[in-house]
Amino acid sequence: METNPCINPVKVGFSIPPRVSRKSKIDDTIVNISGVRIGGSEIVMIAGPCAVESEEQLFETARSVKAGGAKILRGGAFKPRSSPYNFQGMGEEGLKLLSIISKETGLPVVTEVMDTRQVELVASYADMIQIGSRNMQNYPLLKEAGMCKKPVLLKRGMMATIEEFLQAAEYILNAGNDQVILCERGIRTFETSTRNTLDLSAVPMLKQLTHLPVIIDPSHGTGIRWMVPSMSKAAVAVGTDGLIIEVHYKPEKALCDGHQSLSLDEFSKLMIDLKKVAKAIDREI
Ligand code: PEP
Ligand code: MN
Repeated sequence: METNPCINPVKVGFSIPPRVSRKSKIDDTIVNISGVRIGGSEIVMIAGPCAVESEEQLFETARSVKAGGAKILRGGAFKPRSSPYNFQGMGEEGLKLLSIISKETGLPVVTEVMDTRQVELVASYADMIQIGSRNMQNYPLLKEAGMCKKPVLLKRGMMATIEEFLQAAEYILNAGNDQVILCERGIRTFETSTRNTLDLSAVPMLKQLTHLPVIIDPSHGTGIRWMVPSMSKAAVAVGTDGLIIEVHYKPEKALCDGHQSLSLDEFSKLMIDLKKVAKAIDREI
């Protein structure tokens, strides 16, 4: 990585929590997700549907993103939906499907946990657990995730500052788990043309302040399918360690977030383009 915090220490108007701070650990942390390493020179692609909806939907999508070059499969089994009347996810059935297709494809799986009571169950199926934007300041959940033995993908709260994001990560490290990946997924601003405002400046800032890997979610960060490729390329250019992208075999039929999901072909094409951007900054995908 080109980041060299020793040469270029940044000044920010808050104190950086000790365990996540570069001051406590100069070297980049590499998070190992069942053999897939995030935080090194390789940029890691995580792809899959927003939610697990059926065997056919998940398996076809997973096989295709694997062929396209994704290294980790995503898919929510427990979904945080704004309306209680929307599809809430398949629950444990969804976790079982994830684990079957994970064995077939060899792709490790990341899936969301919303409640302290679900951590043990979700961690028993997943290779990495996700704490979503809405739960970034759910402190009991952060502590529970810190006590579990699986890596944690922590998404930035939609209203959270960088300081609050780092404090949330500190909870997990402080509870004993240093395998944490930070994910910028867009924040709420006055802008209404996009679902969120993707804060790409969070990448270089976080890479300076902390040793933890940083990835970008351009799907929730824009909420618009056609914007995902350009923001993904920009994310690679700005130094992200990975991308998490929603992909669906039939986006128009998706039960959740279809409008921001790439089709299988769009994902494969994006992978080809991203390899060129990565090469330009001396990294691989
Ligand atoms: C998701 O990744 O499916 C999700 C719900 O993301 P976020 O928590 O960033 O909204
Ligand atoms: Mn989604």
